[in-house]
Amino acid sequence: RQEPISDLLDRLSEVVPDYPKPGISFKDLTPVFADAAGLKRIVDEVVAPFAGEFDVIAGLEARGFVLAAAGAYATGTGMVTVRKAGKLPRAVFTEEYLLEYGTAALELHTDDVAPGTRVLILDDVLATGGTVGSAVKLIERAGAHVAGVGVILELEELGGRKQLEPHHVHSLQLV
Ligand code: AMP
Repeated sequence: RQEPISDLLDRLSEVVPDYPKPGISFKDLTPVFADAAGLKRIVDEVVAPFAGEFDVIAGLEARGFVLAAAGAYATGTGMVTVRKAGKLPRAVFTEEYLLEYGTAALELHTDDVAPGTRVLILDDVLATGGTVGSAVKLIERAGAHVAGVGVILELEELGGRKQLEPHHVHSLQLV
């Protein structure tokens, strides 16, 4: 019998208290990525509910890149990079979002997704939803459609899911 995904995540992921600052409980999925069976399970299960509903997968820098590239390869689709400000070399759309202190910004090349493309967004952890929310805005500014949002862990009490309504958000584990 196959191990439940929650058991796999509990067994392989690490929680780092007070990182990157006091009071934050950092959910580290790098050991899941490093495990052959773990990587395959999380990638297959995070994209599964969206089968046939997307043309390309957008990965959010940096841990979202791992999931998006693997998911795109597995489903025979393309992958686009949503990057932190200043990293993409050509014309970009920019969307700022709020952090606990100050703001950050994500960027998307203006021509990396064609108008009408159905885009699945993947990231490792959904917290407040600010990061994914800015990726949603970038994709919509390109004239593309958000097919859904897939994350491995959802920090439920931070309310990211509500922030992203009406988009379909699929998480593998609530924490
Ligand atoms: P947010 O914009 O608040 O939804 O934060 C989501 C982004 O920050 C994702 O790219 C996550 O990788 C990262 N993140 C936020 N909180 C945590 C946490 N407790 N553990 C690991 N990553 C986190």
